[in-house]
Amino acid sequence: MKANVWVRPNRVEVRDVPDPQILNDGDAIVRITSTAICGSDLHLYDGYLPAMLPGDILGHEFMGEVVEVGAGVRKLTVGDRVVVPFPISCGRCASCQRGQFSVCENSNPNAGMAEKLLGHPPAGIFGYSHLLGGYAGGQAEYARVPYADVGPVKIEDGLPDDKVLFLSDILPTGWMGAEMCDIQPGDTVAVWGAGPVGLFAMMAARLMGAERIIAIDRYPYRLAKAERHAGAVCVNYAETSVPEALKELTAGRGPDGCVDAVGAEAHHGNAAIYAYDRTKQAARMQTDRPSALREAVLTCRNGGTVSVIGAYTGFVDKFPMGSFMNRSLTMRSGQCHVQRYLRPLLERIRIGELDPSVVISHRLRLADAPIGYEMFKNKVDDCEKVVLSAA
Ligand code: NAD
Ligand code: ZN
Ligand code: ZN
Repeated sequence: MKANVWVRPNRVEVRDVPDPQILNDGDAIVRITSTAICGSDLHLYDGYLPAMLPGDILGHEFMGEVVEVGAGVRKLTVGDRVVVPFPISCGRCASCQRGQFSVCENSNPNAGMAEKLLGHPPAGIFGYSHLLGGYAGGQAEYARVPYADVGPVKIEDGLPDDKVLFLSDILPTGWMGAEMCDIQPGDTVAVWGAGPVGLFAMMAARLMGAERIIAIDRYPYRLAKAERHAGAVCVNYAETSVPEALKELTAGRGPDGCVDAVGAEAHHGNAAIYAYDRTKQAARMQTDRPSALREAVLTCRNGGTVSVIGAYTGFVDKFPMGSFMNRSLTMRSGQCHVQRYLRPLLERIRIGELDPSVVISHRLRLADAPIGYEMFKNKVDDCEKVVLSAA
């Protein structure tokens, strides 16, 4: 089959690779109809996450048709149309039972140990390095889906791929980002990053009853989308001082909820520093660009909540702990517990309350994935979200 593989930083290639096979009774094989490129893939593309090997198949946002199931699979049959959540979780451990699927306890105690020896698929993320299970991803024609009875959600009516694909990751992630702010009527919620994740956080905040939503980014086309689809007031951080703008918009108090939907955006010189390479990279990345996280903490109203859905690894320096502690802030974060949100969000899509397809700016063939990565990384041609179709 064809698959988009990581080669080295800033280089991906579509190659012929072996088809995936059932390895465990609980696996299914899915023929992928649609898959997308995520901001999290850019962390791999930038080369700032260790443990990617040349030839590893990328991608953790995908859906398709079940073409084979293992002997133990009960809930899926060949021909079912499914969206697959990005966390690979057992569904049985204490974390999964609490609905905290992205911290499934069923991890591989000895990273790299063959799954056969381990006796079960370790928790992890599709296409997201050998630190997170070493699983092949979904930017491919087919993928193996472990715990097929736990993760995938069946799409039984005629909803098109474009409307349901983002249940795999960014829609629940944005939703969780807003949910962690415990929004009360009348609240103001500020969202750093008007990418697809930030936009969904804003749309969710609106549905949760936020009175005012503030979008912070530097790309006018992304801010315009936030205004159009979430009614956000926009702050362009390339032109305006964000702390001052937020003060002005909130009578000096600061937003009640602050969502970081940026993360360690190495390719834009955000001032986050990754732990495993603190020498040259640190010098290069310590630019005078604002750190979204630091700004969120410093501008949040006393007693408010900072919700971190942007992804980080390692240490992030210059965290304003004094301000955080003395102003009674709450911080919540996490990789999204996608499985928890699949059905409720599918229902909202079905009744027309949410249309996630508004984020799509480009549709390409799987074969053109390398072009998609470049466009999405450099935000050219008003790129917001790239969907790849395997056909
Ligand atoms: P994206 O690259 O499309 O969007 C990021 C946006 O942040 C860009 O528009 C950029 O201009 C903006 N930005 C950069 N620095 C900023 C700053 N200082 N202030 C305000 N805005 C700034 O990426 P995306 O797909 O929207 O993903 C966003 C983040 O969410 C990534 O870090 C990704 O890894 C993370 N993510 C996390 C989860 C999770 O489960 N928690 C899931 C999916 C994605
Ligand atoms: Zn993602
Ligand atoms: Zn588990």
